[in-house]
Amino acid sequence: MLKGKTALVTGSTSGIGLGIAKALAEQGANVVLNGFGDATAPQAEVAALGVQVAYHGADMSKPSEIEDMMKFAAAKFGRVDILVNNAGIQHVAKVEDFPVEKWDAIIAINLSSAFHATRLALPAMKAANWGRVINIASVHGLVASAEKSAYVAAKHGIVGLTKVTALENATTGVTCNAICPGWVLTPLVQKQVDAKAAALKLSNEEATRLLLGEKEPSMQFTTPQELGALAVFLCSAAGNNVRGAAWNMDGGWAAQ
Ligand code: NAD
Repeated sequence: MLKGKTALVTGSTSGIGLGIAKALAEQGANVVLNGFGDATAPQAEVAALGVQVAYHGADMSKPSEIEDMMKFAAAKFGRVDILVNNAGIQHVAKVEDFPVEKWDAIIAINLSSAFHATRLALPAMKAANWGRVINIASVHGLVASAEKSAYVAAKHGIVGLTKVTALENATTGVTCNAICPGWVLTPLVQKQVDAKAAALKLSNEEATRLLLGEKEPSMQFTTPQELGALAVFLCSAAGNNVRGAAWNMDGGWAAQ
């Protein structure tokens, strides 16, 4: 379905980003991966799906590196047809204790990076009259939790950016939507399970049940594969008129 298209997924060396990159590759899209850490294994996993894959290690907190990555993708594949703004980090502390540099980093990586990548991707998408911008927000783009001020602010912000991008392109073949996952068991969430286990002297299983039980009625993690399938739907012809949506996949979290 996506043969001949190019997808750039930020923060795709692990977790949700890698899951979405693989789901798009399964549909035939060539992929540009991004993120920290060793990219050899993720690149091999995507290449094994029979598509071309490239990697750029831009630090998404740095606009000049994002610009470099977008130029690299265009030089390699012609243009970016599908942009998945996924890179993100977390830090947990009360507002009055929140380290200022963590606030700045979360806003830069979880919100501003999506603005920069989107503004640089849109001209070629509009010229082709086809494009998909998919912002990986969070259920925290819809509701809040204590001790996550920067994350919740950034995720509410990206839902707003999604709506504006969708509206500005509503008469074109370029759509923009947000996906809002609840808990997904990735390194980002495992750190929060570990913190709970250490603070309350619980086993990993007990801390996991507690974490899910506090917020997610289904008591199940959403998987990167399920999120990948939603991204594929948004890229399909059936997704042509889905514009500015913030689609939660959260086990009922935001329904409460
Ligand atoms: P993860 O830690 O597994 O992956 C994060 C990715 O972002 C990694 O590839 C990492 O290298 C990359 N990254 C981090 N800082 C970067 C930077 N400065 N520049 C470039 N890349 C950077 O986390 P994840 O859980 O897969 O999270 C992915 C996205 O999904 C995030 O935006 C997160 O907020 C969102 N999300 C996660 C959950 C969850 O439960 N895991 C729920 C809702 C939303």
